[in-house]
Amino acid sequence: MKYVVLMLVIAGIALIGGFALTQERSQMIVPNVATSSQETASLSSSVNVQEATSSATFSIPAATSSVTSTAPAPPATSPATTTQETNMVLSDAVRFSDIAPSQGETVRMDIPRNFRNVTVTFDGKNMPVFAFEGEQHALLPIKAQETEGAHTVTVAAAGEKNYLKTITVRNGNFPVVALGIPPKLGVTPAELVQGLEKENANINARVAKVTPQLYFTKGFGLPLADNTKIGSRYGEIRKTGDQVIYHMGVDFEGKEGDSIAAMNDGVVREAQHTQLYGNIVIIDHGEGIYTMYLHLKTILTSVGARVRKGQVIGVMGETGYATGPHLHLSVKVNGVSIDPLRFIKEF
Ligand SMILES: [Zn+2]
Repeated sequence: MKYVVLMLVIAGIALIGGFALTQERSQMIVPNVATSSQETASLSSSVNVQEATSSATFSIPAATSSVTSTAPAPPATSPATTTQETNMVLSDAVRFSDIAPSQGETVRMDIPRNFRNVTVTFDGKNMPVFAFEGEQHALLPIKAQETEGAHTVTVAAAGEKNYLKTITVRNGNFPVVALGIPPKLGVTPAELVQGLEKENANINARVAKVTPQLYFTKGFGLPLADNTKIGSRYGEIRKTGDQVIYHMGVDFEGKEGDSIAAMNDGVVREAQHTQLYGNIVIIDHGEGIYTMYLHLKTILTSVGARVRKGQVIGVMGETGYATGPHLHLSVKVNGVSIDPLRFIKEF
């Protein structure tokens, strides 16, 4: 928990003034500072943080391919004549890994390969659609601060009826902890928040770009030889004075110098030193999926490098806003930080 502090970084900071947290979507890095750039300025009001971006990758089981049935359901069958029924055809063919996800999860959609010109939207926003292991997919990242309840997903494809489905987001039940600021930083809470916002803005700009191709052909793996020592989980809500910071990644404990490997094949988009996140590496896996490795002691790769799954890209350290050696890992999907540990199970 020592590092927790560090994680703030990752987490977003939200100011709570009086504090209602509002949700907004900012896309930031790991941390979401609750404040978005604009809001940052005013501490007083409500802020909120949010951010969870996640990205998912996945490998789909071969079995999946059996999803084919596209036979239209007899109209009569369904009494209701609503949109949903109208879309029964697609509804049978398009599958969701979960229609009642909790905050921080990533929903994987499996779409038949024969569907052409597929467009998927989640709450009105377009989600990348790409082919992987014989099917087409779209990933729906559920932010840690996503509103609980109903959210809309639409699917459109050439020659098919439009499809609309509602998924229900459940509370992530994230723990609330009190956290201080490491003395070594020598910053006030307000300065910390401002610093995080600045760094988040840079990171968000990096991960906002969707590279229209997948760089990987296999599922994701965790970055350390020993990934069992979890110091702080995704979604933890850290309170420091009147600020709230959401931890948008997971912290793995270990020793300084432990090797850190790329979670999958990709291209390095960021490899540099920052004040609060320390030495960071950001890998683009394509189609809106990024993995981020923070607080490294040493970076062993460079911007533009093609890396392979399992390739060492740096070693563990405690640079930046960290109170001890650990790796803060974040996974961004379509600009949202999602829970890396759940993501890895799914894909
Ligand atoms: Zn962390």
